[in-house]
Amino acid sequence: MDKREKLKEIEERVRNIDTSLAKQSNNPVSGEGNSWAEVVFIGEAPGFNEDKQGRPFVGRAGKILDELLESVNLKREDIFITNIVKHRPPGNRNPTNEEIKSCSPYLNEQLDVIKPKVICCLGNFSSKYILEKYGLTQGGGVKGITKIHGQVFKISNLTGIVKIIPLFHPAVATYDPRKLDTLKKDFQILKEEIGK
Ligand code: URA
Repeated sequence: MDKREKLKEIEERVRNIDTSLAKQSNNPVSGEGNSWAEVVFIGEAPGFNEDKQGRPFVGRAGKILDELLESVNLKREDIFITNIVKHRPPGNRNPTNEEIKSCSPYLNEQLDVIKPKVICCLGNFSSKYILEKYGLTQGGGVKGITKIHGQVFKISNLTGIVKIIPLFHPAVATYDPRKLDTLKKDFQILKEEIGK
């Protein structure tokens, strides 16, 4: 099986998730993009539009993400976009630890298949999950996104160095223009890291 087939197979299993959150949602959002992507973006959970369409970042936050991608010459076809939680939490509430625990194995499998060189974590939940997953805790925990956004964390594994860059979630830029400026600057850091 090649990477695309493996990701399809994971998507199929995501479709069969039977948690109470899954039952309340219209569509699961497994993730989409280039199976051979060097850069993977990880958000939190689908929102209203994503739940309707079964695709990640297609609402307002997605528009901002598209602008940010364009600013560093990245296209959606170049990257893979996914979320930790694969179903919409009602009313867009924060995901619970239990919801993260039940969905994160699928995210882990997606990362194992794609083997990205750079992982961009969008927002606090994704940053905390990924930094903890790779043992990148500082002083016993992971600092909040306000402190760590734009930092480049590195881990080395069998496939080489993987860079992890926590970023503000694009949704915050919809109500705070200063966060959009910060996001634009942080995307320039990403640009340098991928040599675009
Ligand atoms: N916010 C997220 O974290 N993920 C999406 O897919 C959409 C909005």
